[in-house]
Amino acid sequence: MNWITKVLKFGEKIKTAIKKRPSKEEIENSDWTTCCKGPILKKELEENLWVCESCNKHHRINSRQRFDVVFGKNNYEILKTPIPQDDPLNWEDSKSYKERLKSARKKTGQECAVMISKTRINNINVTAGAFDFSFIGGSVGAAEGEAIIYGIQHAIDNNQPFILFTASGGMRMFESLIALSQMTRVTLAINELKKNNLPYIVVLTDPTAGGTTASFGMLGDVTFAEPGAIVAFAGKRVIQATVKEELNSDFQSSEFVQKHGFCDRIVHRKDIKEEIGKILSILLKKNSEVNSENLNETSEISIETREAS
Ligand SMILES: [Zn+2]
Repeated sequence: MNWITKVLKFGEKIKTAIKKRPSKEEIENSDWTTCCKGPILKKELEENLWVCESCNKHHRINSRQRFDVVFGKNNYEILKTPIPQDDPLNWEDSKSYKERLKSARKKTGQECAVMISKTRINNINVTAGAFDFSFIGGSVGAAEGEAIIYGIQHAIDNNQPFILFTASGGMRMFESLIALSQMTRVTLAINELKKNNLPYIVVLTDPTAGGTTASFGMLGDVTFAEPGAIVAFAGKRVIQATVKEELNSDFQSSEFVQKHGFCDRIVHRKDIKEEIGKILSILLKKNSEVNSENLNETSEISIETREAS
């Protein structure tokens, strides 16, 4: 075998290696995913609430998985939210928006990126919403805005707190100003909730960015976040190029935003239900057990502070 045939054979090998790479759909439909230690069975990950046991990475989950993990399977009821007219601007770029919507609905099995449910935490009835980031990047258009507003209205009508799990790239470009107006509409709805003295709890999950961070993502009475979640407005590279400074490696992580006062507490996925239950019991002055426990904690803290001073 001379060197030319060797080179040609090597070239063929590279070609087949590239060809054999699985497509995005194949990866999504496979039983496997990857984390720090290489391939991991999705089933194994699911048993651990989609959190990696080795590195504690909180993997992204869809709306139903979120409700399953937090409230328990079959322990909540999905509410049907209004769906406004699709594609009001007849948007088309490399693909039409209608087509994108069609494939997102097929892929996720939901009508829009936000799902609303009603359930109970700590014997308190609550209305909850959760984003699915795999639905066009969890972006917010008229349908998502309507879903959240519907959820808030349901909470007000039934005198319940509203909990929102965010995972969103921001407002949906394909709906332009109609999408941007959802920031204002949802903010006004949250104000109504607050006027009714009902708590609004936000749980920031990976990733929460753009207009979602800039509006209802930051309006919670209490804001929790999952460990290691990206919480941002503009992207890190854009900011780096603008300010011409090297940014920390943890820049825009939930730990970073907590340090800078944008989030109250970082909570592991397995503990979030308990944390929300506790805080709601305190805010609504329900479940005397939690309240007395908490009062003790508070008095301990004040004693410590007094001793320190
Ligand atoms: Zn891992």
